[in-house]
Amino acid sequence: MTEEVRRCTRCILPGNYPNIEFDENGVCRVCREHDRKYSNIDWDARKKKLEKILDRYRGKEEKYDVLVPFSGGKDSTYTLWVLKNMYGMRCLAFNFDNGFLDPGALAFAKESAAKLDVDLITYSPSFGLLRKVYKRALEATGEFCAACVVLMPTAIFRAADTQGIRLIAAGFSDMLEAPPSGSCIDRVHFKSIMKGVIPLKELKRDYFFPSWKRMFKVKQINIPDYIEWDLPLIYDTLNRELDFGKSMADVRYDCLGTPHSSFLYKTRTGFGKYEYLYANMVRCGVISREEALATVDEREPKSAPEGFEDFLASLGCDLSVLDGIKEKSILNFKGRNSTVRRFAIKLREMLP
Ligand SMILES: [Zn+2]
Repeated sequence: MTEEVRRCTRCILPGNYPNIEFDENGVCRVCREHDRKYSNIDWDARKKKLEKILDRYRGKEEKYDVLVPFSGGKDSTYTLWVLKNMYGMRCLAFNFDNGFLDPGALAFAKESAAKLDVDLITYSPSFGLLRKVYKRALEATGEFCAACVVLMPTAIFRAADTQGIRLIAAGFSDMLEAPPSGSCIDRVHFKSIMKGVIPLKELKRDYFFPSWKRMFKVKQINIPDYIEWDLPLIYDTLNRELDFGKSMADVRYDCLGTPHSSFLYKTRTGFGKYEYLYANMVRCGVISREEALATVDEREPKSAPEGFEDFLASLGCDLSVLDGIKEKSILNFKGRNSTVRRFAIKLREMLP
């Protein structure tokens, strides 16, 4: 079983998690925040709000009403299904290949898009630049995923903007997927990390957004903010309507870098990279606390995964990235002022 660490009595977050603060019942800060944020949601009102938004964008542009970031997983597939079949939106599915996309995942996404009868575009940026960015991020911060976390939203925005689409609707569930606040890289961190190593000119188009003015022309929403994300119902619908062939028990990652990034993360922080994800699932009643602990034990690598050195070599790195890794962090680099960040997000949410 998982090594003896103190864990939240309700979810599974460990005592070495940042700012965990257990209360007298052993319940963690993240659980308490979850209750404040997600109890008492009026789903009927949210749904009406969604209908109003979609009405505003339907039929306005020549070919597509909405761009949907699409991995072929349950959330993005259900998002597409809902938008197309329940709300009659003309969707363009957008798939992103970070250079480590499992070929099976891309084939599956293509197949699902065909069953949904929607157009699909895949963006695969050249690996030369990606590799340089991954290498720098890994050497400076002890993790390489930050490179994708920054690139993906930009690529999604650029795809919508290029196609003249004014609405992006994703299937990201805040309640189920969001990491606890304060742990995420932003573009100011990214810029500070890359500075002096990769010319910003090379990174500009793929890693940074265009002007605010341009950004405000595209509205971005997450469908799970408006529709209760009922996973059993989602799997039922997809299996019935699209022959999806997956169940809640299938937890899989499409990125072949995941075992390596998980190992690096655990070596650096002492806890598993996706423990927050399983903790979210416990809070939402998707899996039990025992199932979550077993998943952590099974999936969060305790030793270097198979092919680890080859993987590092593919990024132009070697085992020396492990030297002093415990002292490395994105947070050692300058990030965006959090007030500015929250204000920018609020402003964009207010877009009609
Ligand atoms: Zn908790």
